[in-house]
Amino acid sequence: LCAGPCDFVLGAASLTQLPEADRPEIAFAGRSNVGKSSLINALLNRKNLARASSEPGRTRELNYFDLGEGKMWLVDLPGFGYAKVSRTQAQEWQRLTLRYLQGRVNLRRVFLLVDSRRGLMDTDLDVMNMLNTAAVTYQIVMTKADKVKKTEAEKTRAKVEAALKKHPAAHPVIRVTSSEKGWGLPELRAEI
Ligand code: GDP
Repeated sequence: LCAGPCDFVLGAASLTQLPEADRPEIAFAGRSNVGKSSLINALLNRKNLARASSEPGRTRELNYFDLGEGKMWLVDLPGFGYAKVSRTQAQEWQRLTLRYLQGRVNLRRVFLLVDSRRGLMDTDLDVMNMLNTAAVTYQIVMTKADKVKKTEAEKTRAKVEAALKKHPAAHPVIRVTSSEKGWGLPELRAEI
């Protein structure tokens, strides 16, 4: 993915801080602990690149990575569904994210990460509705597939696929990945 260095560029706490929309952009969304930082690191072949986004203070920001040579922005969206977050903070997350999704003209696709052990949760469905409202194409990526039996992962995949029938903005192909084992990463890189 990265011809040159895939650097962390900035963390934006408000939409006024976003970088120029001068190149295509893709974004990663998912519940806290879904394996988002691990997947971004694995995709970009970096050990701790996305750790910057997990540092205190960075977790409520939209974290931008440069895919090299002005080619593309990769955005790590703040994780959602974290139990310790107050209702006000959750609403703030929703407001910022929805405004980002509706207003970002260069946003080509959102990858919505779902834990292979859990499948789609209510908060994921909320986000899918937001994506539908914003008319942003998105694709489901199942994470941590190494933590479940192959048959179980396939069952979850089929269930997600069935649920997607009601969501016209969703890409029909569901990617099953493991950052740990490297499963599904070449396919996802090719997709990006
Ligand atoms: P984030 O909060 O979504 O950024 O999640 P992290 O990437 O920090 O991962 C949360 C936890 O799940 C960590 O303990 C990771 O080591 C673990 N994890 C992430 N991806 C995988 C995976 O593919 N396989 C396994 N077995 N564990 C994973």
